[in-house]
Parts: sequence; structure tokens; C-alpha cells
Amino acid sequence: LLLGCIADDLTGATDLALMLTRAGMRTVQVMQVPEAGSQLDGFDAVVVALKTRTCPVEEAVDLSLRSAEALLALGAKQIFFKYCSTFDSTDKGNIGPVAEALMDRLGADLALACPAFPTNKRTVYMGNLFVGDLPLAESPMKDHPLTPMRDSNLVRVLQRQTKLKVGLVPFSEVDKGAAAITAAFEAAKARGERFVIVDAITDKHLVDMGTAADGMRLITGGSGVALGLPANFIRAKLMRATAAPAKLAAPKGRTAIISGSCSEATRGQVKRAIDAGVPVFQIDPFAIDRGSDSSRKIADWAIAQPAGKPVLVYSSADPESVRAVQAKLGREIAGSLVERELADVTEKLVAAGFSRLIVAGGETSGAVVNGLGVLALEIGPEIDPGVPWTRSIGGTSLALALKSGNFGAPDFFLKAWDRLA
Ligand code: ADP
Repeated sequence: LLLGCIADDLTGATDLALMLTRAGMRTVQVMQVPEAGSQLDGFDAVVVALKTRTCPVEEAVDLSLRSAEALLALGAKQIFFKYCSTFDSTDKGNIGPVAEALMDRLGADLALACPAFPTNKRTVYMGNLFVGDLPLAESPMKDHPLTPMRDSNLVRVLQRQTKLKVGLVPFSEVDKGAAAITAAFEAAKARGERFVIVDAITDKHLVDMGTAADGMRLITGGSGVALGLPANFIRAKLMRATAAPAKLAAPKGRTAIISGSCSEATRGQVKRAIDAGVPVFQIDPFAIDRGSDSSRKIADWAIAQPAGKPVLVYSSADPESVRAVQAKLGREIAGSLVERELADVTEKLVAAGFSRLIVAGGETSGAVVNGLGVLALEIGPEIDPGVPWTRSIGGTSLALALKSGNFGAPDFFLKAWDRLA
């Protein structure tokens, strides 16, 4: 194993696994901390998908450290801690505390931090994260149900989460190329900085950052940073590039779209699917709470729909409705209530022969896939940037498209379905 990756949510893990696959690494994604003796030989990269973005800090740290231990035992030369390209976190964490703990374990003196993903319009300039043309704190991320982002300056955001000193490698240096970035890393160490936010506006910046990160024990960031990493291993003759798969052999069966993401992008995709005549069931969190929308009732509704089309079950709602639900039920309780419901519905659909699942939302995907007991994923072709079709390894054969809330074009659901049809 060359690159050991720990992702703080499932769709982020898939996004990273796709990036590595496309850059030529033989990559597998696993859903849990690998146990000793796991059959993970023959891969260049292993991505461990955790669900630690919003869990209690101690749990996030513990699971991340256990993952690192397992990856090191498999021979990993470099550890990549992957978080969201919108830096989803709160002042308590979990990005800072997890990164700090990994750094300690690895004996790293400096780790870079960069969520940039220009293809998906996430760029970092002077430490400020932009989502499209808006600073993070003015983007729809300000209203995220679990991790509302109200400060765009990542040096400040990360500094609130760690006692270690956070610095910046600014655009002026990044733009000069890999050697200048390497020099900036050295200068940061001399200033006593342990984390550096690195600016990046284009893929070239990410590739150069990757080159400069050769030999860095710990890397943290979005999947974009992975663009430049495989080349380091190829240059060092530790691996040869493998062509990414162009197709996925999907199991036969019906398709369900399950959406628990409330992001603007997902709400647009839901609307597009409704407009296209996909049968839909909208879940009302209050109805789940009252017990009037049982997962059995929803699954039976889905099973009764015409078999030739996908069905859409969603709880996605606008910020105002989400606020009303959270005010009444509490943020975390509302979140887990909806996640559990969607997971239960999906389990029943799979039992009834649905085998192609398109799931929107990081937390939602985590709940659904855990509910199904999927243990590992093989990465297939890309549907939209950051989102591949995948296939479960072991157990019931399922095709899964797991989409981070913010990702995908407006026609994502239909496109994903078409791709397998
Ligand atoms: P994203 O990838 O967009 O962040 P997630 O699935 O990670 O999506 O997070 C969305 C969270 O919002 C989940 O915990 C989900 O259960 C919760 N949620 C979904 N629908 C609603 C709703 N209508 N009201 C309140 N919370 C909701």
C-alpha cells in the first residue's frame, strides 16, 4: 500500500477514491476501520470511509487513529485525511482535532490543508474559500443543517479547532510552482507553523501542491489535493498507472433515488426529477416523529410504482423548513431521525429487489450504506465530477451512486440512471 486515506464521510471517500482511480491508482474503498489481516493486498490506495464529520470529537479522533494504525500496518507511506471541499466542520472540530491527532501519531512536523476542487468551483485564495463566485460564508453552506459555515477564512476556521499554529501558503507562492511551494513549506516550519492552508485556484496549483507534498507524512484536504499525489509514486517507481474503468457491470434490478441532502444543488436535482415525471415520496420529519410515515408504508409505496422507472424518496427541504424541524426536534435528533428512516426504507427496497441505488447526502449515504451492511466498494466510471458509480464487494451485489449534497449537475439523478440503463 502506498497511500492510506481516511475520509470523514462516505461520499467524500468515494469522491477521493474516484480521483485516485482516475489518476492511475488501484483503489478500494472500505466502510470501516480495516481489521488486522484484511484482504487489502494489491491496492495502491485504500480509502477508509468513516462517518466522523459531525460525531463527537473523541469518537472522530479514535476512529481516525485506528484507521491510520490499520493503514500503516498495511504499509502506507503517506496518510491522507480527506474532508469536504466546503471544509464542513464546527468550532469544536472535527477537522482540527483529527488532523492534530494524526500528526502526533505520524510524527509529522507540517501538514498541508486544502479543500480546493476547481472542477467543482471550490477555490481558495488568501486562505478564503470560495464556492462558485461566493465566499463560503455567503454560499448556501451558511445554512447547512449540521455544519453551517459562517467564516470564509480557513486559517481562522482551522485555528479555532486546533492549538497548533496555522499558517498560509499564499497564491503568490503557489502560482510559481512546486519548488516555490516546497520552499514555502520550509518557511512555514521555520515560523513554527504546523498546518498551512494552501491557496489553489486551478488544477495546476493542485498538481504542484501534490508534487511539493512528496514525502509529507500527513496530507489533509479535499479530493482535489489527490490530483498530484499518484505521480509522486509513479516517479519513484513504486507503482505503474492503471487505466480507470470505463464501465460498471451493474446487477439487474430496480432503481431507487434516496435523498436526504438539503443542499441547494440537491434540491434542484430533486425538482428536475419531479419535473421529469419520476414518482416521488416526500418524507416529512414531523410525520416520522409522529410515527405516521413508517418505513414500511414508504417502501410499499415505492414497490407499487411502475418497475420501468426509478422512484425518488426524499426529505430534502429548504433552509426555512429545516430550521422549523430543528427548532422543534433538535438539530441532531432531526438529522438522525431522517437518516434512520431513509436507511430503513432502502433496506426494505433492497429486500424487494431494488439493486441500483442513487443516494444524495454524505450523512445520508453513510446511514444507508451502513444499514445495508456494505463493507467495500469498487469504483466505476464518473457520473459527474466527484461522483462515480460504484459496486459493492461481497454480500448482495448493488450498484451505488453516492453523491455529496453539493455535487452534481441539475440532471444528476436522471443522468446517473441513464448511465446504467
Ligand atoms: P449533505 O451532503 O448535503 O451535507 P447530508 O446527508 O450529509 O447532506 O446532511 C443532511 C442532514 O440533514 C442529514 O442529517 C439529514 O438527515 C438531515 N435532514 C434531511 N432532511 C431534513 C429535513 N427535512 N429537516 C431536517 N433535517 C433534515
